[in-house]
Amino acid sequence: EMPQVKGQVEFKNVGFTYDEEAGNKILDNINFKVGQGSTIALVGPTGAGKSTVINLLSRFYDVQEGEVLIDGINIRNVTLGSLRSQMGVMLQDTFLFSGTVMSNIKYARPDATDEEAIQAAKTVCAHDFIMNLKEGYDTEINERGTRLSIGERQLISFARALLADPRILILDEATSSIDTRTELALQNGLQRLLKGRTSFIIAHRLSTIKNADCIMYIDSGSIVERGTHEEL
Ligand code: ATP
Ligand code: MG
Repeated sequence: EMPQVKGQVEFKNVGFTYDEEAGNKILDNINFKVGQGSTIALVGPTGAGKSTVINLLSRFYDVQEGEVLIDGINIRNVTLGSLRSQMGVMLQDTFLFSGTVMSNIKYARPDATDEEAIQAAKTVCAHDFIMNLKEGYDTEINERGTRLSIGERQLISFARALLADPRILILDEATSSIDTRTELALQNGLQRLLKGRTSFIIAHRLSTIKNADCIMYIDSGSIVERGTHEEL
């Protein structure tokens, strides 16, 4: 079991390949240590290894070289369940489930009250668009969320993450074009969601990159530059 974490994250000499037989290194000698509560933007060209970094942090795969540590604990030595319970993972194909908007927000915390869920939606700027749906929070959505835009799906996932309140947040930002109003809600909602959590964002928006405490530029499996937006 992993104890309640604060959210310090460290990669120590991490090397990784998806295919041990071929042995082509996807990540090579990745080193960083980030303090609790900081926002890290991962940027770099397609195929660079950004998603792989978050795959290793959430332990969808185990590293072959080096260590991934949270609060100094090697994540290999804790149960997957206890690790994931401390993480909010929001991938690009935001996972929604068949059910109402309300049940989707409460997904990770079924015991929450409607008021708490609505408060979370308000905080991340999702409330207005939800109220504009035909049946508001009672609107039924299907797994693929086909009645919602990508940006709207991401807003629901923000509300869900805020309600679950994990110390570590992982976000693969949506790249598809998003209308200006939803875009603004996403920007503001994200900044509120990030407060007090250690967050790793595969960032596509300039606003996210500008607001990050640290930008890591990854290319061909290595961190080739790091710093704030002003520094880079
Ligand atoms: P993008 O911006 O396109 O999402 P990325 O920086 O997230 O790119 P990764 O998905 O981490 O890149 O991929 C890094 C390398 O690993 C690529 O060469 C990719 O083809 C390879 N790769 C990714 N996932 C797998 C997998 N499940 N099995 C085998 N190879 C993979
Ligand atoms: Mg990726």
